[in-house]
Amino acid sequence: MIRITDLQKSFGDHRVLQGVSLHVDAGEVVCLIGPSGSGKSTVLRCINGLESYEGGEVTAFGRRVDRRSADIHTLRSRMGMVFQRFNLFAHRSVLQNVMEGPLFVKRESAAQVRREAMALLEKVGLAEKAAAFPAQLSGGQQQRVAIARALAMKPEAMLFDEPTSALDPELVGDVLAVMRTLADEGMTMIVVTHEMGFAREVADRVCFLHSGSIVEEGRAAQVLGTPTHARTQDFLRRVL
Ligand code: ADP
Ligand code: MG
Repeated sequence: MIRITDLQKSFGDHRVLQGVSLHVDAGEVVCLIGPSGSGKSTVLRCINGLESYEGGEVTAFGRRVDRRSADIHTLRSRMGMVFQRFNLFAHRSVLQNVMEGPLFVKRESAAQVRREAMALLEKVGLAEKAAAFPAQLSGGQQQRVAIARALAMKPEAMLFDEPTSALDPELVGDVLAVMRTLADEGMTMIVVTHEMGFAREVADRVCFLHSGSIVEEGRAAQVLGTPTHARTQDFLRRVL
């Protein structure tokens, strides 16, 4: 479903991605871990065409991802993205936030969009907050709204970039629970996270990125339990 081959990306003289290769099949959950600055966000941004790249290739759903191509918006709409910061529309209610995308992009009636948005709010446990405004919600609740908003576009894959890193510790669990439900339902997911418990329990595969290269990749239990590369061992010692 998503295939990255020998991806190279620089910012000026700084080679940020030095030949990253990664493939994700339909229904797979892949966690991307690694130190700050190793290139995790850049990989995600290349996958959904927010960033250009100089070498290698990224394909999604069988099509080359090219930031300047005419169909990049269509391609992007097939992947939902959730960021560390929730980026909700502050002056719109929770329900309006979730309805916004499909109302403007898809040709569905407002009543239908509203029904689906309410069902998504139910799914993330926030139906009773439909009329609230983002500022009235906790960070964890806002992030669950952001997930519902991404799902409203009916994406075929979801990209998460440290979705719980900005949250108070007691709010992390509810967000991870929603992500786990999505994984159980068969959603294809690439998750950048420092939540090693989530990675161990939910990921089919874990990739460890260091200085723009994937230095270790394998089943979650192997990479997190018995890492073979010294850099992975060192990283895990520090985060666990
Ligand atoms: P991570 O998400 O793993 O913390 P990033 O992908 O955000 O890492 O960044 C990788 C490297 O690229 C870092 O050294 C960062 O400073 C640099 N970088 C990221 N975005 C930009 C940008 N827009 N301009 C210049 N350098 C950038
Ligand atoms: Mg990042």
